[in-house]
Amino acid sequence: AAASGLTWHKTPCRFCGVGCGLLVGIDSGRAVAVKGDPASAVNKGLCCVKGYHSVQALYGKDRLRSAQMRKNGRLVDVPLSEALDAVADHFKKTIAAHGKDSVAIYGSGQWTIPDGYVAAKLFKGCLGTNNVEANARLCMASAVTGFLTSFGLDEPMGCYEDIDHADVFILWGNNMAEMHPVLFSRLLERRQHHKRTLIVDLATRTTRTSFAADKSILFEPQTDLAIANCIAYQIIKDGRVNRSFVEKHVAFKKGHTDIGYGLEDGFHFKDEATPTDFAGYAAFLEDYTPEKVASLTGVSAADLRYLAALYGDPNRKVVSFWCMGMNQHTRGTWINNLVYNLHLLVGKISRPGNGPFSLTGQPSACGTVREVGTLTHKLPHGVVMNEAARKKAAEIWQVPVENIDPKPSHHTVSMFRALDSGAIRMMWIQVTNPMVTMPKLKRYRDAAKKEGRFIVVSDVYPTPTTDIADVVLPSAMWIEREGMYGNSERRTQHFQQLVEPPGEAMSDTLQIIEVARRMGFGDKFPQDPKTHIREIWEEYRRFHDGPKHGMAPYEVLLQRPGVIWPFHEGRETKWRYHAETDPAAKGSSFDFYGKPDHRAWIWARPYEPAPEVPDREYPFWLCTGRVLEHWHSGSMTRRIPVLHRAVPEAYAELHPDDATRLGVRSGERIRLVTRRGSLEMTVAVDQRGRPARGHVFVPFFDEALLINEVTLDAYCPISKQPDYKKCAVKVERV
Ligand code: SF4
Repeated sequence: AAASGLTWHKTPCRFCGVGCGLLVGIDSGRAVAVKGDPASAVNKGLCCVKGYHSVQALYGKDRLRSAQMRKNGRLVDVPLSEALDAVADHFKKTIAAHGKDSVAIYGSGQWTIPDGYVAAKLFKGCLGTNNVEANARLCMASAVTGFLTSFGLDEPMGCYEDIDHADVFILWGNNMAEMHPVLFSRLLERRQHHKRTLIVDLATRTTRTSFAADKSILFEPQTDLAIANCIAYQIIKDGRVNRSFVEKHVAFKKGHTDIGYGLEDGFHFKDEATPTDFAGYAAFLEDYTPEKVASLTGVSAADLRYLAALYGDPNRKVVSFWCMGMNQHTRGTWINNLVYNLHLLVGKISRPGNGPFSLTGQPSACGTVREVGTLTHKLPHGVVMNEAARKKAAEIWQVPVENIDPKPSHHTVSMFRALDSGAIRMMWIQVTNPMVTMPKLKRYRDAAKKEGRFIVVSDVYPTPTTDIADVVLPSAMWIEREGMYGNSERRTQHFQQLVEPPGEAMSDTLQIIEVARRMGFGDKFPQDPKTHIREIWEEYRRFHDGPKHGMAPYEVLLQRPGVIWPFHEGRETKWRYHAETDPAAKGSSFDFYGKPDHRAWIWARPYEPAPEVPDREYPFWLCTGRVLEHWHSGSMTRRIPVLHRAVPEAYAELHPDDATRLGVRSGERIRLVTRRGSLEMTVAVDQRGRPARGHVFVPFFDEALLINEVTLDAYCPISKQPDYKKCAVKVERV
């Protein structure tokens, strides 16, 4: 290493929400190698195939190096300063002509914490619009509303160390072996060293996770609601309720049932809780006997009782994991509530090895979107509806409190519908690729291309989203700039700039500051590129004072390989809501201080069918998702040769019986037709996963085969998160 000049530097991985610690080898100003960081508490030196090849994503041949502006219909290179002038000028003109709510910013769970913070400050504090959203709305909003309705505070109570203490892992619709591979390795390692360990895969298709699990249970789409209620029913019937925990720490609530699916424009719904009690809750569950639920879900009554026995066994510690399968769900908030119910009924929560654990997909879905609060209703550590939160934000941001609008505006789907209607005229899109990832894509692509719309896109490569842009700003990515990410376990990880960005590429943070300066808000943002991240972090940290949500000082982030918040008096809080581990918890045991009654809420939430189900005309279920090798919409990993060669294009997985019936084999072509459109692709039978009979699975990473052309834009009415996992499709042989 000395002879070649190679030096190794710490950084979190750029890709998924696991947040592995990496060591990146730098030689002659270029990132040339990666290995897992053995000192990382997350991955202990391991890495997945995306992490190992991650630095190659910096060096794709078509990396954006200069700004572009659309002139005579074509994007042409222009100096960055000209593009930034045009963006600022267009913002001013649009606001003058159409009002402050005619402009918007749409970011990402891949925004660093400083990126999201300056975006929220410019739009909510300076421009006075709540038109701030992020693609994390599409991947974990139901987890947020689930946590808030059950506990009053967002994010998991436990941490990855739970894996080292648990006996049973129940995975709810989560192909963890491919989506959170290094974390799944920790489960396998636990099983290797702790013989009682059981991994149960509860899913709608057979995946690599199912093959590695001790038990695989398949269920019909959407019926996880009924399964969770049935497990609760059986826990009560078997006398497995932890009575003293429930009496001291739980309250029972009922919600609405007469709610829709977000298919209509202007659809709004407010979740309201009606008190009930244990007897009322038990009576509600009478509809969910194993025999009744077995016929609805396809899961045998014996397996339903088996699941209840695992949750209810006082001698086994249980962790439930989930991600998109439960969150991308038209009843996403409800199914989150229902899994919390199980842990609360048996008191298996907030202690090492016991807990419900919602995983995130993106590296900073928690750190940026949830903690900074880059969603329409959010402020850092507060919501716009709350006067005290607005006052605090106005004081820290040094803006008049009247600037901060007390009403949320548009969630993500609504924001793109507003682009369609003309209520929004200008949108700045950073670090995400909505022209691949929006459901019912054609509607929103047509909206963005309408006359009178102005789209600015900041990215690192050309994508279908830069194709619809009026201005493209080249971004510095990951270790080409300084920043922080926050992973699934509340761990904030800082990273330094290690290499120079190409051409005129600039971090999203600095792009926003440059536009703010051109709009007359320069005095609100740090101006020194050498110290701006430290200044932003320390300003942001003022929002998070106190033992319930404190964040570590910048200097501490520099010294440690990540810090789990709440950080209080020099210590991380690994398990919240218990006095032994959480300094904010009052008393001697549990204290669910997020709720005014200091109790966690068990919700009676019913099973309801999906808005679109297979019928005679469209007889299959369509489910979309990811593969191990590709990150998100593939814009980076498809430029990494080894990953691209491994999975060069999207495909449609079919059950072998369905393939035989249709007369197709792997490698042959089929057409998928839904009520929204059709597309052709190659069949894959038993190549990686196996859908149940009557189901099709298609990964969404391939911009040449946009499966979201045909998906449905129905969403959970509480979280506003769309359901990408279920719609009805017809399969035709080509
Ligand atoms: Fe990166 Fe996720 Fe792989 Fe870890 S598991 S190396 S964070 S992509």
